[in-house]
Order: sequence, then C-alpha cells, then structure tokens
Amino acid sequence: MAKLQAIRGMNDILPGQSLTWQYLESCFHRVVQRYGYQEIRFPVLEQTQLFKRSIGEVTDIVEKEMYSFDDRNGDNLSMRPEGTAGCVRAADQHGLLYNQQQRLWYAGPMFRHERPQKGRYRQFHQFGVEAFGMAGPDIDVELLQLAAQLWQELDIAEFLTLEINNIGSAADRKAYGAELTAFLESRKENLDEDASKRMYSNPMRVLDSKNPQVQEALEGAPELAAFVSQESIEHYAMLRAMLTELGIAFRENARLVRGLDYYNNCVYEWTTDTLGAQGAVCGGGRYDGLVAQLGGKPTLAAGFAIGVERLVLMLDSLEKVPAEALHPVDIYVLSVGKVAPSLGLQVAAELRQKYPQLGIVSHCGGGKYNSQIKKAFNSGASLAVVLEAGQDGDNAAVDVKIRRLGDSDESRDVALTDLTTQIAEFL
Ligand code: ATP
Ligand code: MG
Repeated sequence: MAKLQAIRGMNDILPGQSLTWQYLESCFHRVVQRYGYQEIRFPVLEQTQLFKRSIGEVTDIVEKEMYSFDDRNGDNLSMRPEGTAGCVRAADQHGLLYNQQQRLWYAGPMFRHERPQKGRYRQFHQFGVEAFGMAGPDIDVELLQLAAQLWQELDIAEFLTLEINNIGSAADRKAYGAELTAFLESRKENLDEDASKRMYSNPMRVLDSKNPQVQEALEGAPELAAFVSQESIEHYAMLRAMLTELGIAFRENARLVRGLDYYNNCVYEWTTDTLGAQGAVCGGGRYDGLVAQLGGKPTLAAGFAIGVERLVLMLDSLEKVPAEALHPVDIYVLSVGKVAPSLGLQVAAELRQKYPQLGIVSHCGGGKYNSQIKKAFNSGASLAVVLEAGQDGDNAAVDVKIRRLGDSDESRDVALTDLTTQIAEFL
C-alpha cells in the first residue's frame, strides 16, 4: 500500500529541528514574561464570520487563503489564519476588555492556503503579542521595544530592519478610499479584472497589484499621506521621537500597508534580507476599531505577530542557536556485561536527582561496549558513565568509569558510591 504523506505546505518538525524551536520558544517566553505579558490560548477553529468581519472580506486571506468548511451541524468554520481575531473574540467574550488594560501573548499554528515555498507554508506558527486599553504611542513603542529585545536575545538584531508607516484613522482611509476610487474610475480601461473589482470594494488593495499595467495606471494617484488627520500625525511623530530616544532604529516606508484591514495609525514590519523573498518576520500596528467592529465596546488596541518558521530559518542559517541548546543529552550511562538490569536506571536516576539541569540517558537494550559507546557519541552527550561487570548481577563487583566523549578521551575509574560527586569535576 502506498504510504500517506503530509499535506503540502504543512511541515513535520523533527527532533533535530525541534531543538531550535524550543530554544526560540524559551527566549520568547522569557522576554514576554519580563515585560509582564500573560498568555492567552484560544481555539484553532472559529466561525468563518469572525475572520471575515475582522481581517476584511476583500483581502487575500479571506478571499483566497482560508481553510473553511461546513461542520456536521452545518456551521461554517475556518482554521484561524492569524491570531488577533481569535484573541479579541476570546478576551471580549470573557470580559477581559471591559474598562481594563491587558497585555497578552499567544503562540500556535495558523493556516493559510498559499503557494508553499521557503518561508511560506500552509500551516505555519506565530508568536503574537496584543495590548488592550492603552492609547499609545507609549504602548506602541513598548511593543517595538519588546520585539527589539527578542532580536537582541537571539543575537539577530543586526539582521533586522524596522519599517514603519502611518496609515491614518479608519475615517481618514475612508475619505482617501473615496478619492482613490474616483481616480481609478478615470483609469478604468487600464485596470485588470482584479483591480476593477477591488476599486469599489477595497481600493487601497489596488495599490498592491503586481500587474505592471495596473502599476502604470496608478501613476499620479492620490496619496494617503494627504488624508491623514492631525491627531494621527501627532501620534506618529511622538512614536518616532520615542523610538529615537530609546535608540530603536527605524526606516519610514510610505508604501507599507498591511494585508489585514483592521489596522490604523502606526503600522510596522521587521524585515530581513537573510531569507530571500520571504523577508518579513514580524508585522503589526494599532487596531483601535477592531473590538467594536466585532461587537465589543470600543477598545484601544495594538499588537504584532512574529512568523516562527522564518525566525527558525534565520537562526539556523546564521548559526545563532547556542551549542548547549542543540545538545539535549549530557551524560550517557552504559551497562556492559552482566550488570544488574536495574543498575543503569538507578545510577541515571541518582545523577538526575543531583544535577536536575542535565539530560541523562541510560542505555537500554543491552549490546556490546562498542555498540553502546557508539550510541553514546551519537546522542551528543559530552560524558559517558561506563558500568561494567563480569559477574551476574553483583553490584559490588561493577567497574565504574567516567569517560569524556569528544576531543579528549580522558577517563577516570571511580567507586560506584563516589560517582555522583566525582562526576562534578568533569562537568
Ligand atoms: P507576507 O507579506 O510574507 O505574506 P503577511 O503580511 O501576510 O506576510 P502577517 O499576516 O502580518 O503576514 O503575519 C505576521 C508574520 O507571520 C509575517 O511577518 C510572517 O513572518 C509570518 N507569515 C505570514 N504568512 C506566513 C506563511 N504562509 N508561512 C510562514 N510564515 C508566514
Ligand atoms: Mg501574506
């Protein structure tokens, strides 16, 4: 029978790779904890309506990329394509947003039916951070500071650039959209089908068109900057001043618009040129209108999401994962000859008790010394403990040796009773 394969664009993360993931997760957990953010977990499946109402009907995600289906009750559900919508739904449903400030984070898989390629998958993972009930720009800067701190801890800060833009309030964009539609109508003959459709439903999306003919038709189009309100301009100016004061470098990019409709005022992206085409590793901004748009009480909000796979690719290719994170096994205990069957397990248990931070494997399955020591090397351990006995099950007659695995093969014979203390000199 033919073996079944994973779904295209959905990756298995194997043990060698998962060490990088765990390292990244532990850095992220440490940073959010140090900034006082708390974890929220919410389902992978939500009503399709939640994503339509938040991300926007006329967006790539909702039009083309969602995994949606009718369940057995006939309810139309979707696999979450991003985390903010579910986070807002959950926080509002449980009253966390009512006259309160919240600093939340989440992590988990997201699903988008995109064309799979390096750094772009159909199941991918995000770390997200969301803050509610604060007007900014101090909270916006705190979020950027948190991201910058993560890059620093991961030692990749020099490979990332922060791009920022001010996209104005929802009202500003509405006024701009009307003007843009009028302009596009005057260029109707030069638009393709997609652009002709979107010029009424979501004219700003036409600006993103990859079609050179459409891009040409956009020559002389009105610019959003001219429609941005004074309040937005002041918010954005203060944000830039604060970033400068805190030493967080940024580049302004007037073309930066995000693929989700709910953003307003400042939006941003951290990008790298170490990944080729898929250079965005983190995107976010303010989304003050979203909670009310989903039926809640108007609530100020801001947040960002990080693409975990892209960070993993970066860490691996730049060799930024510390060696100790890649070696989960420190000590490998061999049982050679007629050692009592439980002795290896007992010795390993004592070592674990004394050195709880170490990974200790006790060899199982018997075999000759040569085959066991080979497994010890393959485990990545830096030390082997060799228990060897000639007589059946007599612990008193066991020879015990501590052996370095690696460049030096220094070894020492020790008494079984001294093993846990003597080994300290090898660590
Ligand atoms: P892109 O421009 O690369 O399509 P996006 O603007 O669609 O990204 P967001 O919705 O802002 O991405 O999601 C935040 C982050 O999640 C991105 O910066 C990226 O790192 C990551 N990401 C988004 N889509 C994918 C995907 N299909 N596969 C892997 N990572 C992704
Ligand atoms: Mg995308």
